[in-house]
Amino acid sequence: WKSMDFPWTKKLEANNRKVFGNHSFRPNQREVINATMSGYDVFVLMPTGGGKSLTYQLPALISPGITLVISPLVSLIQDQIMHLLQANIPAAYLSANMEWAEQQEIFRELTSSLCKYKLLYVTPEKVAKSDALLRQLESLHSRGSLARIVIDEAHCVSQWGHDFRPDYQGLGILKQKFPSTPVLALTATATASVKADVVQALGLVNCIIFRQSFNRPNLWYSVMPKTKKCLEDIDKFIKENHFDECGIIYCLSRMDCEKVAEKLQEYGHKASFYHGSMDPAQRAFVQKQWSKDEINIICATVAFGMGINKPDVRFVIHHSLPKSIEGYHQECGRAGRDGQRSSCVLYYNYSDYIRVKYMLSQGVVEQSPLTSGSRGAFSASSDRVFETNIENLLRMVSYCENEVDCRRLLQLVHFGEKFDPANCRKTCDNCSKMVSCTEKDVTDIARQLVELVLLTGQHYSTSHILEVYRGSMSQIVKKHRHDALSLHGAGKHLAKGEASRIIRHLVIDDILVEDIKKSDIYGSVSSVLKVNQTKVQRLRSGNQAIIMRFPAPT
Ligand code: ADP
Repeated sequence: WKSMDFPWTKKLEANNRKVFGNHSFRPNQREVINATMSGYDVFVLMPTGGGKSLTYQLPALISPGITLVISPLVSLIQDQIMHLLQANIPAAYLSANMEWAEQQEIFRELTSSLCKYKLLYVTPEKVAKSDALLRQLESLHSRGSLARIVIDEAHCVSQWGHDFRPDYQGLGILKQKFPSTPVLALTATATASVKADVVQALGLVNCIIFRQSFNRPNLWYSVMPKTKKCLEDIDKFIKENHFDECGIIYCLSRMDCEKVAEKLQEYGHKASFYHGSMDPAQRAFVQKQWSKDEINIICATVAFGMGINKPDVRFVIHHSLPKSIEGYHQECGRAGRDGQRSSCVLYYNYSDYIRVKYMLSQGVVEQSPLTSGSRGAFSASSDRVFETNIENLLRMVSYCENEVDCRRLLQLVHFGEKFDPANCRKTCDNCSKMVSCTEKDVTDIARQLVELVLLTGQHYSTSHILEVYRGSMSQIVKKHRHDALSLHGAGKHLAKGEASRIIRHLVIDDILVEDIKKSDIYGSVSSVLKVNQTKVQRLRSGNQAIIMRFPAPT
């Protein structure tokens, strides 16, 4: 797809220079454009700031007809339209809360044979709820004027992602109605299972996938114990490493944001807070102060960060446990956009897990702007969403509790990427402190865990298998009579983190598989542990040893 040999190549390069003011293409941009211009369905995983917008705006400009863009947030859409209009590219948007007359005006333009728009942005609920829009699209399509459909933040389609948004699930209708129109799905964050889910839900056919490494070599990762002195520790860390530099501190609750900001001000930092309870004008004011370096530190919930492109963020601190590895990776990704060394420090305490879990169960955790506002629509699948949230959270816990493996490796494995920890070059706490480790042969434990998954019929989640293995007498264990199994309690001598790490290891080794199932008519998904029959034979027959590293006992 890199080849220069396409009929549109000259036009593409000229417009990239003249209209967008770019001297060249960034990694994968040309490839993605060539694939979508060739009429294929394309799925793009590109880090934030990688230049995803160009991969559809440039084709939109040089293709006949209109490109439909589904984007989750009106504020992001308005920002995009402003840039397009500045570059003299005619674009419009439709959203649910727009005046009727204004919508009619856009519809009128769309029906005109001389329609001026090259791009039409809509929010996902507009596709789900507006028959008028679908009729317009059908009409455009029948006139051969629907050039391409773009789905931005495509990971929102999947309940496995950390930003599930129910309205995205209805977008499969587009491919059903317009099977010959190429779809371009874009995201900055997706695991292999999220990607598979998105491709399936959108009905993409023979989809070409482009992905870039998620590794950010200039970010230094560490996990610190969170104690009662956490705020003093944060103050000290900033003063010693990033004095007067710019950073974000992610907090769990709105109250935490305010408390942390107040304390940091007392310590002499230029800090402020940002969360969903503030009115839009207040939020915009704080964001502006931060962009202009009038304040250095923003103490925020995950509501802060989308569409923020400040290049010199030198640190991202997590004052409490992030809700998923994907979320964590994305939040950290706001540091060091300029490529300069930046720190990502996470303050971890197991009790935060309990707190986040409780808040998730009550539905009071602040969501990223991608998902907020769509909460009410969860009802049909709220249990499933909750379970997925807990699985994601537990993975984060296991990341934090891991004191030996390279942090970069742990994150990248989560995104299905291979990484040699030697290339970390001591830029994470585990690699740099070189904890003394013991290698332990866990083959027998691994075999028992595999047998337990088989004994329980391959119907249960990781956490349930761990509970049974560690001898829990919880109601659910008793209800399924798993307390009567020979392996019930076989792992009670192990620490919980240890057994769960062994299961993770088996999943990473593809001996155990987390099977994703559509489990009801609403399309909910759930995950159960299954055994990969081809891979497990060597382990069961005694031909494979599982050796893992654990911190040496002190
Ligand atoms: P993403 O959507 O992947 O987060 P954007 O599309 O917002 O990224 O692009 C991030 C920034 O990179 C924008 O300021 C954009 O103008 C710039 N950019 C994109 N492509 C190029 C390019 N080929 N050359 C120079 N700058 C680019």
